Amino acid sequence: MRALTEAEVRSSFVNADADDLRIMQMPHDFMLVDWDYLDFFAWREPSAGKRGYVLIQHDGEVKGVVLRVSEPGRARNGMCNICHTMQPGNQVALFAARRAGAAGERGDSVGTYICADLSCHDNVRLAHPLAPNEVRAAGQVDFRLDGTRRRMEAFVARVWEQA
Ligand SMILES: [Zn+2]
Repeated sequence: MRALTEAEVRSSFVNADADDLRIMQMPHDFMLVDWDYLDFFAWREPSAGKRGYVLIQHDGEVKGVVLRVSEPGRARNGMCNICHTMQPGNQVALFAARRAGAAGERGDSVGTYICADLSCHDNVRLAHPLAPNEVRAAGQVDFRLDGTRRRMEAFVARVWEQA
């Protein structure tokens, strides 16, 4: 992703109302974010609240969505629908996002199970580390990372696209 300022982050949300933006808290380590490394930017509210935020970049445009945890943790293990990592039940949560525009005003939302801390980016790398003798050729597409990015973009698109 290209580097974003706090103002750009705040102005990118497609499904946030004034209240959402007022109480939104930036991640504590925002100044240290390594944007080059990120395919998308996601964080949970630092104060252990029920909100999460995801930003994707599509054709140079940044779109952000506000998520709410609607089912925090399950008894059984579950798979994150974004990075496809199996997680203990308390580390995967059902997130819901109010849809943008008229659909959201009617109360429509979309939801999916995602790693509870929204750290799919790191989890997919931890779950599938390169073997010591494995060398990733420059320019070679890593399908696991690529799939994670694609699924996150598709989820965000479902939030902002007007049916
Ligand atoms: Zn995940």
